[in-house]
Parts: sequence; structure tokens; C-alpha cells
Amino acid sequence: MGKYTITKDLRDVQRIEKLVLPTNFPIGPIHAYLVFGEKLTLIDTGLKTDQAWKELNIGLERLGLKLTEIEQIVLTHHHNDHVGLLDWILEKHPTVPVFAHRDTLTFLQDEDYLDWTGEFFKTLLQEFGLPKEMAYKWAFRKRGRTLSNNLEIETVLQEGDKVPGLSDWQVIETLGHSQDHLSLYNAKDQMLICGDHIIKGMHSGIFLDAPLYGKPRARPLIQYFQNLEKCKNLPIKLTYSGHGPDIDHLAEVIKATEENIENRLQRVINALKKANGSATGFEIIQDVYRRRYEKAVITFVFEIVAVLDLLEERNIIIAEKTNGVYHYRLVDY
Ligand SMILES: [Zn+2]
Repeated sequence: MGKYTITKDLRDVQRIEKLVLPTNFPIGPIHAYLVFGEKLTLIDTGLKTDQAWKELNIGLERLGLKLTEIEQIVLTHHHNDHVGLLDWILEKHPTVPVFAHRDTLTFLQDEDYLDWTGEFFKTLLQEFGLPKEMAYKWAFRKRGRTLSNNLEIETVLQEGDKVPGLSDWQVIETLGHSQDHLSLYNAKDQMLICGDHIIKGMHSGIFLDAPLYGKPRARPLIQYFQNLEKCKNLPIKLTYSGHGPDIDHLAEVIKATEENIENRLQRVINALKKANGSATGFEIIQDVYRRRYEKAVITFVFEIVAVLDLLEERNIIIAEKTNGVYHYRLVDY
């Protein structure tokens, strides 16, 4: 069996082929998609590893395609499993245009922004109650550039845009998972390519990106809920995700995702009740995740920050700052 799968035989709909590329992440392989529009378009690229590179080339070969026949690339967001292989693709095929969200380049390669990210997290983590040493360690952990070459974006894509060369496809901004996340929607065939916005059967990860200069921090879980809502309101028969299976019953998957998030909210409320109605972010993490947080506390900070934003938005908690650290207090306790 090859590492690519031919998608469902839907006659008269836009042909899409999925390339299954390995990662070393618990989430499993990442899916890149070839869309056979007016232009042969690759959506996302895979992690920059020899194994993924090999599979990408094998996948193309099995479809009778050469890498240089790809006419354009669209990125759903800047995470390294989605963009990493661009480096090697561009070495072999330097003229291929790349389309992405307007902020993707900043997240990938703006040195000032990457420095500012460290400063931003230093403050955030301390306000969240992490011990100073731990806060510094995670704020300034090595952030290698994802791509060694400077990427240029040919066309910036935003909400409602038609994708050049894919006239049936339109851009839907789906911020939340990251602050540059785009999905592509084909209204004619009722198909969605959604990157990491919706993944069936997996915990939907929320990542915090440091805000762009001068802007307030985004509240990603609130955005995420709004952007799930956007997808609920579209007629969609088939959804292709960046990970996990294709989805032919999107409404159910969205419902399960929302329930999963509501459970997370409840776990945080329970932790606050146990702490007599008020706790720091770090205390909440320790209660909810026990010692599991130690390996990668930052992941759990992302998750709990996002949950607390939503609880605050719903007026269930208020945040009070004492001695530089936020305490989150249940309003009706
Ligand atoms: Zn991602």
C-alpha cells in the first residue's frame, strides 16, 4: 500500500489527492493535498524530515507527477509540519508561487518578532504564576527558524478571497489553532480543506502566538468557537483535515469538539472550586494535569490561558492581579 490515498470517487467534483506524510509528533502523519484546479496546487507541505521528503516524492511519482509540475502552493498556517518541506521544495522548484495569510511570514522569519516572542512569554508566564526560572526557560527556549531560506509570499490570502488558479475555492479565515490559520472552501462541490482547524477524534490544540507589535493578545479559544460557527453555517459534504480521517459528517464532529472544550472548561472550574474559588494559572495547571505538565508546561499554559479567556468572556471568572501575578476567581463562589 502506498502512503497516499485516492480520495473518494466523486465524479464531476474537483479532483483532490491526499499525500500522507510522516511526522514524529503524537498527532501522527500530516496530510498535504493536491488540488487539480486550473493550476495544480499543493496545500501544505509536511515536516522537514528525510522520511517526509521521501514520501512526498513517492506520492507524486505514483500520481505520475513531478515536483516541478506543482504550479502553486497554499499554506494553511505556519506550523512546521505544514510548511517545513517548503525549504527543499523551493530548492528544486524555486519559481513556484506560495500563497498564505498576511502574517505567516512574520511568524516564520521575522527576527524582531521572534525576539519579541521571548519577551512576551516571559511576562505572560510570570503573570500566570510560573516560578521565574521556569518562566524564563520556556519563554526563551530555542526557537529555531522553521525554514532556513527566506520565503516570499506571492499572494496574501484573506477572508472571502478566491484562490488564484483555483476558481472554485474561497478562503475562510479560521484563526484559533494559530493566528494565521486559513481554510479553503469549495461551494460548488461543498468541500472544505481545513488544515488543523477541525480534526476528528483528536484534541483540538490551541497555540498562543505572541501578538504582532502593538496589538493586544488574541483570545484564541473565543476566535476558535466563532470560526467553528462559520463552518457550521456552510453546506459541506466532505472535509479534508491536516490530520486524522476525512469528515463526511462535519456537524457531528464540530459538536464533539465543542463538547470536548466544554469539558475542559468544567475541569478548570472544578480546580478553582477545590482552591476555594481562586487560583493562579500555574496552580490550575498543577491541579488539572498533575505532574504531566512538567515535560512541556508551555502546551498546558496555552490550553489553560485559552480556557480562562473563555470563562472570563462568559463572566464565570474574573482575573485579579496581585504582585504581578493573576489570580482567577469564580464570580459566583
Ligand atoms: Zn498546526
